[in-house]
Amino acid sequence: MIIYSEILVRYGELSTKGKNRRNFISALERNVRVNLPSQKVRFERDHGHVVLTHPEDYAGIAEKLQKIFGIHSFSPVIKIEHNLQALKDSLQALVTEVYHPGQTFKIISRRADHSFELDSPQLNQVLGDLVYDTLDFAKADMKHADLKFRVEVRDDAIYLSYETIPGAGGLPVGTAGRGHLMLSGGIDSPVAGYLAMKRGVDIEAVHFASPPYTSPGALQKAKDLTRVLAQFGGSIQFIEVPFTEIQENIRDKAPAEYLMTLTRRFMLRIVDQIRAQRDGKIIINGESLGQVASQTLGSMEVINAVTTTPIIRPVVTMDKLEIIDMAEKIGTFELSILPFEDCCTIFAPPNPKTNPKLDRAEAYEQKLDVEGLVARAVSGIKVEEISASPEHKEEEEEFSDLL
Ligand code: ATP
Ligand code: MG
Repeated sequence: MIIYSEILVRYGELSTKGKNRRNFISALERNVRVNLPSQKVRFERDHGHVVLTHPEDYAGIAEKLQKIFGIHSFSPVIKIEHNLQALKDSLQALVTEVYHPGQTFKIISRRADHSFELDSPQLNQVLGDLVYDTLDFAKADMKHADLKFRVEVRDDAIYLSYETIPGAGGLPVGTAGRGHLMLSGGIDSPVAGYLAMKRGVDIEAVHFASPPYTSPGALQKAKDLTRVLAQFGGSIQFIEVPFTEIQENIRDKAPAEYLMTLTRRFMLRIVDQIRAQRDGKIIINGESLGQVASQTLGSMEVINAVTTTPIIRPVVTMDKLEIIDMAEKIGTFELSILPFEDCCTIFAPPNPKTNPKLDRAEAYEQKLDVEGLVARAVSGIKVEEISASPEHKEEEEEFSDLL
Protein backbone atom coordinates (compact mmCIF):
# COMPACT_ATOMS: atom_id res chain seq x y z
CA MET A 1 0.00 0.00 0.00
CA ILE A 2 1.39 3.41 -0.96
CA ILE A 3 1.03 6.02 1.74
CA TYR A 4 0.92 9.54 0.37
CA SER A 5 2.02 12.31 2.65
CA GLU A 6 0.79 15.27 0.67
CA ILE A 7 -0.91 16.39 -2.51
CA LEU A 8 0.65 18.85 -4.92
CA VAL A 9 -2.04 21.07 -6.45
CA ARG A 10 -1.46 22.88 -9.77
CA TYR A 11 -3.43 25.95 -10.78
CA GLY A 12 -5.07 26.27 -14.15
CA GLU A 13 -6.03 29.55 -15.74
CA LEU A 14 -4.74 31.30 -12.67
CA SER A 15 -1.31 31.63 -14.16
CA THR A 16 -2.60 34.10 -16.74
CA LYS A 17 -4.19 36.49 -14.28
CA GLY A 18 -1.22 38.70 -13.39
CA LYS A 19 -2.01 41.03 -10.54
CA ASN A 20 -5.17 39.26 -9.38
CA ARG A 21 -3.10 36.23 -8.70
CA ARG A 22 -2.98 36.61 -4.96
CA ASN A 23 -6.79 36.86 -4.72
CA PHE A 24 -7.17 33.76 -6.83
CA ILE A 25 -4.78 31.77 -4.74
CA SER A 26 -6.36 32.80 -1.45
CA ALA A 27 -9.87 32.03 -2.78
CA LEU A 28 -8.73 28.59 -3.86
CA GLU A 29 -7.02 27.97 -0.55
CA ARG A 30 -10.17 28.98 1.31
CA ASN A 31 -12.36 26.68 -0.81
CA VAL A 32 -10.03 23.74 -0.34
CA ARG A 33 -9.93 24.38 3.39
CA VAL A 34 -13.73 24.43 3.64
CA ASN A 35 -14.07 21.16 1.76
CA LEU A 36 -11.18 19.39 3.48
CA PRO A 37 -11.59 20.68 7.03
CA SER A 38 -9.41 18.03 8.66
CA GLN A 39 -6.32 18.49 6.41
CA LYS A 40 -3.51 21.02 6.54
CA VAL A 41 -3.46 23.19 3.40
CA ARG A 42 -0.90 25.69 2.19
CA PHE A 43 -0.97 27.53 -1.12
CA GLU A 44 1.88 29.40 -2.72
CA ARG A 45 2.79 31.15 -5.91
CA ASP A 46 2.99 28.31 -8.41
CA HIS A 47 1.36 25.45 -6.61
CA GLY A 48 -0.39 24.41 -3.46
CA HIS A 49 0.13 21.66 -0.98
CA VAL A 50 -2.42 19.71 0.94
CA VAL A 51 -0.43 18.07 3.70
CA LEU A 52 -2.33 14.92 4.58
CA THR A 53 -2.86 14.80 8.30
CA HIS A 54 -5.02 11.72 7.64
CA PRO A 55 -3.21 9.98 4.74
CA GLU A 56 -5.45 6.94 5.05
CA ASP A 57 -8.32 9.08 3.68
CA TYR A 58 -6.45 9.79 0.42
CA ALA A 59 -9.11 8.39 -1.95
CA GLY A 60 -11.91 10.46 -0.39
CA ILE A 61 -9.75 13.57 -0.36
CA ALA A 62 -8.85 13.13 -4.04
CA GLU A 63 -12.52 12.80 -4.92
CA LYS A 64 -13.29 16.10 -3.20
CA LEU A 65 -10.33 17.91 -4.75
CA GLN A 66 -11.41 16.85 -8.22
CA LYS A 67 -14.57 18.92 -7.83
CA ILE A 68 -13.08 22.20 -6.69
CA PHE A 69 -12.90 24.86 -9.41
CA GLY A 70 -9.57 26.51 -10.11
CA ILE A 71 -7.49 23.34 -9.89
CA HIS A 72 -5.86 22.30 -13.15
CA SER A 73 -4.41 19.02 -11.89
CA PHE A 74 -2.96 17.47 -8.78
CA SER A 75 -0.52 14.74 -7.81
CA PRO A 76 -0.31 12.69 -4.66
CA VAL A 77 3.23 12.78 -3.32
CA ILE A 78 5.31 10.47 -1.12
CA LYS A 79 7.67 12.28 1.25
CA ILE A 80 10.94 10.43 1.78
CA GLU A 81 13.77 11.03 4.19
CA HIS A 82 16.71 12.93 2.71
CA ASN A 83 18.94 10.04 1.66
CA LEU A 84 19.60 8.07 -1.51
CA GLN A 85 18.97 4.62 -0.11
CA ALA A 86 15.58 5.67 1.27
CA LEU A 87 14.68 7.12 -2.13
CA LYS A 88 15.67 3.91 -3.89
CA ASP A 89 13.65 1.77 -1.48
CA SER A 90 10.55 3.93 -1.94
CA LEU A 91 10.85 4.03 -5.73
CA GLN A 92 11.27 0.27 -5.85
CA ALA A 93 8.17 -0.26 -3.73
CA LEU A 94 6.15 2.23 -5.78
CA VAL A 95 7.20 0.80 -9.14
CA THR A 96 6.38 -2.74 -8.03
CA GLU A 97 2.93 -1.64 -6.96
CA VAL A 98 1.86 0.48 -9.93
CA TYR A 99 3.57 -1.07 -12.95
CA HIS A 100 1.56 -3.11 -15.46
CA PRO A 101 3.34 -5.32 -18.04
CA GLY A 102 3.95 -3.50 -21.30
CA GLN A 103 4.05 -0.01 -19.82
CA THR A 104 6.93 2.36 -20.52
CA PHE A 105 8.45 4.65 -17.93
CA LYS A 106 10.57 7.74 -17.44
CA ILE A 107 12.34 9.26 -14.47
CA ILE A 108 12.15 13.03 -14.13
CA SER A 109 14.47 14.26 -11.41
CA ARG A 110 15.01 17.73 -10.08
CA ARG A 111 17.63 18.61 -7.54
CA ALA A 112 16.66 21.81 -5.74
CA ASP A 113 19.13 21.03 -2.96
CA HIS A 114 22.49 21.35 -4.72
CA SER A 115 24.41 19.75 -1.91
CA PHE A 116 22.75 16.39 -2.60
CA GLU A 117 25.24 13.72 -3.64
CA LEU A 118 23.85 13.18 -7.16
CA ASP A 119 22.76 15.82 -9.66
CA SER A 120 19.62 15.48 -11.80
CA PRO A 121 21.10 13.53 -14.76
CA GLN A 122 22.90 11.21 -12.36
CA LEU A 123 19.70 10.66 -10.42
CA ASN A 124 17.83 9.85 -13.64
CA GLN A 125 20.53 7.34 -14.54
CA VAL A 126 20.74 5.62 -11.16
CA LEU A 127 16.99 5.46 -10.64
CA GLY A 128 16.33 4.33 -14.22
CA ASP A 129 18.74 1.44 -13.72
CA LEU A 130 16.96 0.59 -10.53
CA VAL A 131 13.63 0.34 -12.36
CA TYR A 132 15.20 -1.89 -15.03
CA ASP A 133 16.58 -4.16 -12.33
CA THR A 134 13.32 -4.25 -10.43
CA LEU A 135 11.13 -5.07 -13.42
CA ASP A 136 12.71 -7.29 -16.03
CA PHE A 137 10.52 -6.12 -18.89
CA ALA A 138 10.15 -2.40 -18.27
CA LYS A 139 11.15 -0.12 -21.15
CA ALA A 140 12.10 3.50 -20.84
CA ASP A 141 10.49 6.01 -23.19
CA MET A 142 11.61 9.61 -23.08
CA LYS A 143 8.75 11.01 -25.15
CA HIS A 144 5.50 9.21 -24.34
CA ALA A 145 6.11 7.28 -21.15
CA ASP A 146 3.05 5.65 -19.54
CA LEU A 147 4.51 6.12 -16.07
CA LYS A 148 6.43 9.26 -15.20
CA PHE A 149 8.17 9.07 -11.87
CA ARG A 150 8.96 12.55 -10.62
CA VAL A 151 11.65 12.98 -8.01
CA GLU A 152 12.30 16.27 -6.33
CA VAL A 153 15.19 16.63 -3.92
CA ARG A 154 14.53 19.55 -1.61
CA ASP A 155 16.39 20.69 1.48
CA ASP A 156 14.06 19.07 3.97
CA ALA A 157 13.19 15.83 2.18
CA ILE A 158 12.79 14.05 -1.14
CA TYR A 159 9.40 14.01 -2.83
CA LEU A 160 8.27 11.26 -5.19
CA SER A 161 5.13 11.16 -7.31
CA TYR A 162 3.90 9.50 -10.49
CA GLU A 163 0.22 10.30 -11.01
CA THR A 164 -1.30 13.48 -12.43
CA ILE A 165 -5.04 13.68 -11.89
CA PRO A 166 -7.03 16.27 -13.87
CA GLY A 167 -8.92 18.84 -11.79
CA ALA A 168 -12.23 20.54 -12.52
CA GLY A 169 -10.61 23.55 -14.25
CA GLY A 170 -12.47 26.85 -14.17
CA LEU A 171 -11.77 29.67 -11.73
CA PRO A 172 -11.94 29.48 -7.94
CA VAL A 173 -15.43 30.24 -6.65
CA GLY A 174 -15.50 33.76 -5.24
CA THR A 175 -13.03 35.37 -7.63
CA ALA A 176 -15.71 36.74 -9.95
CA GLY A 177 -17.83 38.32 -7.22
CA ARG A 178 -21.27 37.35 -5.99
CA GLY A 179 -24.39 36.38 -7.91
CA HIS A 180 -27.87 35.20 -6.92
CA LEU A 181 -29.05 31.91 -8.38
CA MET A 182 -32.78 31.35 -8.77
CA LEU A 183 -32.86 27.74 -7.67
CA SER A 184 -36.00 25.68 -8.18
CA GLY A 185 -36.03 21.95 -7.61
CA GLY A 186 -35.83 21.28 -11.34
CA ILE A 187 -33.07 19.97 -13.58
CA ASP A 188 -31.94 23.22 -15.17
CA SER A 189 -31.22 25.72 -12.42
CA PRO A 190 -28.71 23.54 -10.50
CA VAL A 191 -26.76 23.08 -13.74
CA ALA A 192 -26.92 26.85 -14.33
CA GLY A 193 -25.54 27.39 -10.82
CA TYR A 194 -22.74 24.91 -11.43
CA LEU A 195 -21.68 26.66 -14.64
CA ALA A 196 -21.69 30.10 -13.00
CA MET A 197 -19.57 28.72 -10.15
CA LYS A 198 -17.17 27.29 -12.70
CA ARG A 199 -16.33 30.82 -13.81
CA GLY A 200 -15.72 31.94 -10.26
CA VAL A 201 -19.14 33.29 -9.21
CA ASP A 202 -19.84 33.02 -5.50
CA ILE A 203 -23.51 32.04 -5.60
CA GLU A 204 -26.27 32.46 -3.07
CA ALA A 205 -29.31 30.26 -3.79
CA VAL A 206 -32.74 31.91 -3.77
CA HIS A 207 -35.70 29.55 -3.57
CA PHE A 208 -39.38 30.50 -3.69
CA ALA A 209 -41.66 28.38 -1.54
CA SER A 210 -45.44 28.62 -1.30
CA PRO A 211 -46.58 26.56 1.65
CA PRO A 212 -49.01 24.90 2.07
CA TYR A 213 -49.30 24.54 -1.72
CA THR A 214 -45.67 23.45 -1.88
CA SER A 215 -44.51 20.82 0.61
CA PRO A 216 -41.61 20.67 3.08
CA GLY A 217 -40.21 17.98 0.77
CA ALA A 218 -39.94 20.45 -2.11
CA LEU A 219 -38.03 22.87 0.11
CA GLN A 220 -35.74 20.13 1.38
CA LYS A 221 -35.01 19.08 -2.20
CA ALA A 222 -33.81 22.60 -3.05
CA LYS A 223 -31.57 22.54 0.04
CA ASP A 224 -30.18 19.14 -0.92
CA LEU A 225 -29.37 20.45 -4.40
CA THR A 226 -27.59 23.38 -2.78
CA ARG A 227 -25.50 20.95 -0.76
CA VAL A 228 -24.40 19.19 -3.96
CA LEU A 229 -23.40 22.54 -5.48
CA ALA A 230 -21.41 23.43 -2.36
CA GLN A 231 -18.89 20.71 -3.27
CA PHE A 232 -17.61 22.85 -6.12
CA GLY A 233 -16.73 25.89 -4.04
CA GLY A 234 -17.25 26.49 -0.37
CA SER A 235 -20.51 26.73 1.53
CA ILE A 236 -23.58 28.43 0.03
CA GLN A 237 -26.16 30.72 1.65
CA PHE A 238 -29.64 29.33 0.97
CA ILE A 239 -32.39 31.95 0.95
CA GLU A 240 -36.01 30.85 1.24
CA VAL A 241 -38.58 33.39 0.05
CA PRO A 242 -42.19 33.19 1.26
CA PHE A 243 -44.21 33.36 -1.95
CA THR A 244 -47.69 32.19 -0.97
CA GLU A 245 -49.32 35.60 -0.58
CA ILE A 246 -48.12 36.75 -4.00
CA GLN A 247 -49.28 33.61 -5.77
CA GLU A 248 -52.73 33.81 -4.17
CA ASN A 249 -53.03 37.45 -5.16
CA ILE A 250 -52.11 36.76 -8.75
CA ARG A 251 -54.46 33.78 -8.88
CA ASP A 252 -57.35 35.85 -7.50
CA LYS A 253 -56.82 39.14 -9.35
CA ALA A 254 -55.17 38.47 -12.70
CA PRO A 255 -56.28 36.52 -15.79
CA ALA A 256 -55.06 32.94 -15.80
CA GLU A 257 -53.20 33.31 -19.09
CA TYR A 258 -50.94 35.98 -17.53
CA LEU A 259 -50.39 34.12 -14.26
CA MET A 260 -47.05 32.69 -15.28
CA THR A 261 -45.76 35.98 -16.70
CA LEU A 262 -46.74 37.95 -13.59
CA THR A 263 -45.38 35.28 -11.25
CA ARG A 264 -42.01 35.47 -13.00
CA ARG A 265 -41.95 39.25 -12.89
CA PHE A 266 -42.55 39.14 -9.13
CA MET A 267 -39.81 36.56 -8.64
CA LEU A 268 -37.34 38.67 -10.54
CA ARG A 269 -38.19 41.84 -8.61
CA ILE A 270 -37.71 40.00 -5.33
CA VAL A 271 -34.42 38.36 -6.30
CA ASP A 272 -33.21 41.73 -7.50
CA GLN A 273 -33.89 43.38 -4.13
CA ILE A 274 -32.27 40.52 -2.24
CA ARG A 275 -29.28 40.78 -4.57
CA ALA A 276 -28.92 44.51 -3.95
CA GLN A 277 -29.12 44.05 -0.17
CA ARG A 278 -26.60 41.24 -0.17
CA ASP A 279 -23.98 42.70 -2.45
CA GLY A 280 -24.72 40.55 -5.52
CA LYS A 281 -23.87 41.84 -8.98
CA ILE A 282 -25.90 39.54 -11.22
CA ILE A 283 -28.84 37.14 -11.24
CA ILE A 284 -28.48 33.59 -12.57
CA ASN A 285 -31.36 31.39 -13.68
CA GLY A 286 -31.94 28.09 -15.47
CA GLU A 287 -33.97 29.33 -18.42
CA SER A 288 -33.44 27.43 -21.64
CA LEU A 289 -34.73 28.92 -24.86
CA GLY A 290 -38.00 27.46 -26.07
CA GLN A 291 -38.29 24.85 -23.35
CA VAL A 292 -41.62 26.09 -21.94
CA ALA A 293 -43.99 29.03 -22.42
CA SER A 294 -42.07 31.29 -20.04
CA GLN A 295 -38.88 30.74 -21.99
CA THR A 296 -39.76 32.11 -25.41
CA LEU A 297 -37.91 35.25 -26.45
CA GLY A 298 -41.17 37.21 -26.14
CA SER A 299 -41.73 36.00 -22.57
CA MET A 300 -38.16 36.66 -21.58
CA GLU A 301 -38.46 40.23 -22.82
CA VAL A 302 -41.60 40.96 -20.80
CA ILE A 303 -40.32 39.22 -17.67
CA ASN A 304 -36.88 40.81 -17.90
CA ALA A 305 -38.42 44.30 -18.16
CA VAL A 306 -38.65 44.65 -14.37
CA THR A 307 -34.88 44.98 -13.95
CA THR A 308 -31.72 46.18 -15.64
CA THR A 309 -29.51 43.93 -13.50
CA PRO A 310 -27.56 41.53 -15.73
CA ILE A 311 -29.18 38.10 -15.87
CA ILE A 312 -26.86 35.24 -16.69
CA ARG A 313 -28.54 32.20 -18.25
CA PRO A 314 -25.80 29.59 -18.53
CA VAL A 315 -28.02 26.88 -20.08
CA VAL A 316 -30.05 29.13 -22.38
CA THR A 317 -28.77 27.59 -25.61
CA MET A 318 -28.37 24.03 -24.43
CA ASP A 319 -30.69 21.20 -25.46
CA LYS A 320 -32.57 19.44 -22.69
CA LEU A 321 -30.53 16.28 -23.23
CA GLU A 322 -27.29 18.20 -22.91
CA ILE A 323 -28.49 19.72 -19.64
CA ILE A 324 -29.55 16.31 -18.34
CA ASP A 325 -26.17 14.90 -19.28
CA MET A 326 -24.43 17.57 -17.27
CA ALA A 327 -26.85 17.19 -14.34
CA GLU A 328 -25.94 13.52 -14.21
CA LYS A 329 -22.23 14.28 -14.25
CA ILE A 330 -22.39 16.80 -11.42
CA GLY A 331 -24.70 14.65 -9.32
CA THR A 332 -27.89 16.76 -9.25
CA PHE A 333 -30.06 14.76 -11.66
CA GLU A 334 -31.26 12.07 -9.25
CA LEU A 335 -32.41 14.73 -6.79
CA SER A 336 -33.97 16.94 -9.46
CA ILE A 337 -36.29 14.22 -10.74
CA LEU A 338 -37.80 13.53 -7.31
CA PRO A 339 -41.50 14.26 -7.72
CA PHE A 340 -42.18 17.45 -5.75
CA GLU A 341 -44.33 20.34 -6.93
CA ASP A 342 -42.69 23.68 -7.78
CA CYS A 343 -44.36 26.94 -6.78
CA CYS A 344 -44.51 27.93 -10.45
CA THR A 345 -46.67 25.03 -11.43
CA ILE A 346 -49.20 24.98 -8.59
CA PHE A 347 -51.77 27.33 -10.12
CA ALA A 348 -50.49 27.12 -13.67
CA PRO A 349 -53.24 27.20 -16.31
CA PRO A 350 -53.12 24.62 -19.10
CA ASN A 351 -52.36 27.33 -21.70
CA PRO A 352 -50.01 30.01 -20.46
CA LYS A 353 -49.28 32.85 -22.90
CA THR A 354 -46.23 32.22 -24.98
CA ASN A 355 -46.28 35.74 -26.35
CA PRO A 356 -47.32 38.07 -23.53
CA LYS A 357 -47.48 41.85 -24.00
CA LEU A 358 -45.67 44.21 -21.68
CA ASP A 359 -48.50 46.78 -21.53
CA ARG A 360 -51.03 44.11 -20.58
CA ALA A 361 -48.75 42.69 -17.87
CA GLU A 362 -48.28 46.20 -16.46
CA ALA A 363 -52.02 46.89 -16.58
CA TYR A 364 -52.81 43.72 -14.59
CA GLU A 365 -50.18 44.66 -12.04
CA GLN A 366 -51.99 47.98 -11.45
CA LYS A 367 -54.62 45.93 -9.62
CA LEU A 368 -52.01 44.47 -7.27
CA ASP A 369 -50.04 46.11 -4.48
CA VAL A 370 -46.78 45.24 -6.18
CA GLU A 371 -44.52 47.24 -3.88
CA GLY A 372 -46.11 45.99 -0.66
CA LEU A 373 -46.17 42.37 -1.78
CA VAL A 374 -42.53 42.47 -2.82
CA ALA A 375 -41.47 44.22 0.39
CA ARG A 376 -43.24 41.66 2.58
CA ALA A 377 -41.68 38.75 0.71
CA VAL A 378 -38.20 40.29 0.97
CA SER A 379 -38.57 40.99 4.68
CA GLY A 380 -39.76 37.43 5.29
CA ILE A 381 -36.72 35.63 3.86
CA LYS A 382 -34.97 32.90 5.85
CA VAL A 383 -31.23 32.47 5.34
CA GLU A 384 -29.34 29.28 6.10
CA GLU A 385 -25.73 28.34 5.37
CA ILE A 386 -25.39 25.01 3.58
CA SER A 387 -22.04 23.25 3.29
CA ALA A 388 -20.92 20.20 1.38
CA SER A 389 -20.23 17.97 4.34
CA PRO A 390 -23.33 17.45 6.46
CA GLU A 391 -21.47 14.62 8.27
CA HIS A 392 -19.75 17.05 10.60
CA LYS A 393 -22.98 18.63 11.68
CA GLU A 394 -24.71 15.30 12.11
CA GLU A 395 -21.83 13.97 14.16
CA GLU A 396 -21.97 17.02 16.38
CA GLU A 397 -25.71 16.63 16.78
CA GLU A 398 -25.39 12.96 17.66
CA PHE A 399 -22.72 13.84 20.15
CA SER A 400 -24.77 16.54 21.80
CA ASP A 401 -27.64 14.06 22.10
CA LEU A 402 -25.40 11.94 24.30
CA LEU A 403 -24.54 14.78 26.68
P1 ATP B 1 -35.73 24.25 -13.66
O1 ATP B 1 -35.43 22.90 -14.20
O2 ATP B 1 -34.53 25.01 -13.22
O3 ATP B 1 -36.85 24.23 -12.66
P2 ATP B 1 -37.60 24.73 -15.73
O4 ATP B 1 -37.22 24.30 -17.07
O5 ATP B 1 -38.51 23.88 -14.92
O6 ATP B 1 -36.27 25.05 -14.90
P3 ATP B 1 -39.21 26.96 -15.08
O7 ATP B 1 -39.91 26.19 -14.07
O8 ATP B 1 -39.95 27.70 -16.12
O9 ATP B 1 -38.17 26.16 -15.92
O10 ATP B 1 -38.25 27.99 -14.37
C1 ATP B 1 -37.34 28.80 -15.06
C2 ATP B 1 -36.31 29.30 -14.07
O11 ATP B 1 -36.94 30.10 -13.05
C3 ATP B 1 -35.65 28.18 -13.30
O12 ATP B 1 -34.57 27.61 -14.00
C4 ATP B 1 -35.20 28.89 -12.06
O13 ATP B 1 -34.01 29.60 -12.30
C5 ATP B 1 -36.35 29.87 -11.82
N1 ATP B 1 -37.31 29.25 -10.86
C6 ATP B 1 -38.40 28.53 -11.15
N2 ATP B 1 -39.04 28.12 -10.01
C7 ATP B 1 -38.30 28.60 -8.98
C8 ATP B 1 -38.40 28.54 -7.56
N3 ATP B 1 -39.38 27.88 -6.93
N4 ATP B 1 -37.46 29.17 -6.82
C9 ATP B 1 -36.45 29.82 -7.43
N5 ATP B 1 -36.31 29.92 -8.75
C10 ATP B 1 -37.22 29.33 -9.54
MG1 MG C 1 -38.97 24.15 -12.87
